[in-house]
Amino acid sequence: MSNKLILNDKTKCCGCFSCENICPKQAIESVSDNSGSLYPKIDLNKCIDCGLCSKVCNYKNQKYYLKPIKGYVAITKNEGILKKSTSGGIFSTIAKKYIQDGWKVCGCIGYFKNEEYIVEHVLTDDYKIIEKMQGSKYVQSSIKKVLIEIKKLLNNGEKILFSGTPCQISALKFFLRKEYKNLITIEIICHGAPSLKLLNDYIKFYNLKNNCTLTDIVFRTKKYGWKNIGYIKYKKNSKNIIKTKDLIFNESSYYYLFEKGYFFRESCYKCSFAGEMRMGDITIGDYWGIEKVHPELLKKININMGTSCLIINSNKGTKIIENCSDLFYLFESSFDNIRKYNKQLNVPTKRPDDLDDIIEKYNKEGYIAIDDFFRKKYKKYYIQKLKNKVKKILRKL
Ligand SMILES: Cc1cc2nc3c(=O)[nH]c(=O)nc-3n(C[C@H](O)[C@H](O)[C@H](O)COP(=O)(O)OP(=O)(O)OC[C@H]3O[C@@H](n4cnc5c(N)ncnc54)[C@H](O)[C@@H]3O)c2cc1C
Repeated sequence: MSNKLILNDKTKCCGCFSCENICPKQAIESVSDNSGSLYPKIDLNKCIDCGLCSKVCNYKNQKYYLKPIKGYVAITKNEGILKKSTSGGIFSTIAKKYIQDGWKVCGCIGYFKNEEYIVEHVLTDDYKIIEKMQGSKYVQSSIKKVLIEIKKLLNNGEKILFSGTPCQISALKFFLRKEYKNLITIEIICHGAPSLKLLNDYIKFYNLKNNCTLTDIVFRTKKYGWKNIGYIKYKKNSKNIIKTKDLIFNESSYYYLFEKGYFFRESCYKCSFAGEMRMGDITIGDYWGIEKVHPELLKKININMGTSCLIINSNKGTKIIENCSDLFYLFESSFDNIRKYNKQLNVPTKRPDDLDDIIEKYNKEGYIAIDDFFRKKYKKYYIQKLKNKVKKILRKL
């Protein structure tokens, strides 16, 4: 069998698998690279050279994009939604309103199946599934299954709200290859995502080390406010009682290395959307630095339970906000203000200099190499932090 990767340059593939979906000969399949990320490979014996895979590739064709029109500070008025969301609860508030108005919503859910964690996009008009979409899953979600379904539904006149990272929205738009009035898109700011294989390797490593089985993993909760602390649910292998434990970023090798930009897909380090270029009708993210950028709002709203930035990028986006404005605390801001403390709106995450070394060790020794690497790295970080603290105290004396 004669195989080759569709794109030789890995930084040019966001892993949407539109190419696999469109191929009339099922000549394309996904293969994992040495960091666990999936890339499309083409079986040249089946390929009829029709070129469809190139036509739908959003990275080859990336030219249609949007630009910010307006920027806001936004927090949902629904306290229940705010508590379960990562930022200001914008996604679920809009999703629920649109379901009421007859729309279907597509977003990302995470769940365990036979001890394996799965993260994928699904379509729904059920509020219970929207609750599962809430919260950031810090891993790449698969949109492979929904692309064809969305196309069919749109062609049947169904109204679809799609939410995802900018590259996923770009992928959807290039897969559809035409504008649909009945499609709206919500883009979440994203600074990069590791592969699901890596997360599952971490889960297996954790289970083995602690003689337990994880049954749930949530990266961010509001238990301690708007922070990067989540929780895991697990049961000890000898017992059947499910317990809950905080997932603290600097105590978990996976979470810590995610925060430091390790193991992202290669395209994340060259992300085209780390700037003005937008793909969604609206963009939502964390409003980092809100206390410095909008100190006047601190008396009007409580920012401590999560505050979102909201950017309108199209006329459809303006309509979404008009439809939902009474459901939010909404204050005018600007794209320039929003990007001041949101690094991802300025530059892509830097590829760590020592990433290749650790990938090599991971391939030779398995996840334990990553855990060891984290422990050494965190020790250095902790000592530096302590040194800085002492310096600060000495300066004050
Ligand atoms: C991997 C990742 C990196 C991020 N990086 C940044 C950043 O650098 N700066 C920033 O401001 N914000 C970032 N965010 C976005 C932010 O954390 C919130 O998701 C966003 O502000 C929406 O918050 P919310 O309260 O409105 O809704 P929430 O309920 O918190 O978010 C739910 C929405 O997130 C989507 N979602 C969750 N996980 C994924 C995933 N893995 N892939 C695709 N979609 C997903 C769901 O489909 C749904 O649309 C990141 C999110 C993810 C998943």
